Amino acid sequence: MRSRTIRTVIVLATISLIGIIVTQIFWITSVQETQEAQINLQKTQIDIQEKEFNDRVSIALTNVAEEILTINNDPADLYEAVKQIRSNYFVVSINDTLHPYLLEAMLKREFKRRNIDENFEYGIYDCFTDSIVYGNYVAVNTDTTGAIAPPQIKWDKDGHYFGIFFPNRESYSIAIPKTSIGGWVFSSLIIFIILIFYAYSIYVILQQKKLSEIKTDFINNMTHELKTPISTISLSSEVLLKPGVENDPERIKQFAQIIFDENARLKSQVERVLQLAKLEKGTINLKRGEIDIHKIIRTSIENSQHAVKEKDGIIQSNLLATKFIIDGDEVHITNIIYNLIDNASKYSPDSPKISVTTADDKNGISITVSDNGVGISKDALKHVFDKFFRVPTGNVHDVKGFGLGLYYVKVMVEAHSGKITVNSEPGKGSSFKVWLPHK
Ligand code: ADP
Repeated sequence: MRSRTIRTVIVLATISLIGIIVTQIFWITSVQETQEAQINLQKTQIDIQEKEFNDRVSIALTNVAEEILTINNDPADLYEAVKQIRSNYFVVSINDTLHPYLLEAMLKREFKRRNIDENFEYGIYDCFTDSIVYGNYVAVNTDTTGAIAPPQIKWDKDGHYFGIFFPNRESYSIAIPKTSIGGWVFSSLIIFIILIFYAYSIYVILQQKKLSEIKTDFINNMTHELKTPISTISLSSEVLLKPGVENDPERIKQFAQIIFDENARLKSQVERVLQLAKLEKGTINLKRGEIDIHKIIRTSIENSQHAVKEKDGIIQSNLLATKFIIDGDEVHITNIIYNLIDNASKYSPDSPKISVTTADDKNGISITVSDNGVGISKDALKHVFDKFFRVPTGNVHDVKGFGLGLYYVKVMVEAHSGKITVNSEPGKGSSFKVWLPHK
């Protein structure tokens, strides 16, 4: 994917995500507002119903009180005879004793007349004994649940009175829709999942982009690396094909040697790419056996000597390990040591001073390859062992490579259950230390 396309995708995805979050927040607030409005409306409706009920009960009870006074021939004032003590409890003062059956019959009739379809309990209070003398539960509405013990509330009043309790009245509560809290949690969870998914997608896209850039770099590098020997071989063979060359054996030998060397270079480069292909497959078959690390180091130094001397440099060895025979794959261990020495020489532009040291280290051997080259910055150090990684060289030095050498070294060292570490200071040099176990 091109950078512009990726940027467009990221911008569009971010806008859509912000859109979703804003819509969600608006939706949740508006749902909440609607719910609050509904609750308020419900409350008002209940208040009205409550008041209406209370009024009807008061009227019915006043009528009952009036009737009782008439029966008892009592001329008493009915002013404020009916009092509401609680939302579901009324008391009516009557200045006389009263027959409960009569009261019950009157209450039933009055309530029926006023459409008070509620179960109730009544109790008659006797001021002489200071107790409720009679009480009964009257089920008018059979749909509702059974009796609840009436509150034995005593009214602070002298004289007789009776109380009416509506046990089912208190169930008027306002139900808050459960979805409000659940909705919040659910929508927040969804947004959270979308956010994680979004972040992950962006991460994957950027990783893919980086990988594709790295691969393009690799192909460019490889083409460049292969082109040089190919054109040298082509030029040399042209010279050899020219008429009259057969008379100059020295020249033939010289160009044949060039072709041979360049072909060897081509072979080693192809070999390195093939090594990578093998690593990619994930199957590393080590041909293990007893190998002499010191011998391998000496051979590698010999092979690199020519390139180092050309740059006016030297390679020293300090082979101090006493146990230098280990169990490993000779080809890969040789490649590891050779790659490290080769890098030390490649990245030391002026008269390289390379040293290869060995030492006994825990249950293995440590091999340190140090140089006085360009060194590696702290940032780059974190990535030197990454596949295709190359330090951006700028104009400091112009060394071609694939960025595979150290990756290969690390994979192979670890395949031998070993470890590799690096110390480096830009401008001063680098030191790569490989530790390999004896067994
Ligand atoms: P290549 O040498 O093909 O570029 P490597 O994997 O061997 O790939 O090295 C990765 C990078 O690490 C190199 O491009 C180079 O910048 C840096 N590097 C490796 N060895 C050294 C060294 N001895 N001194 C300085 N830089 C080094």
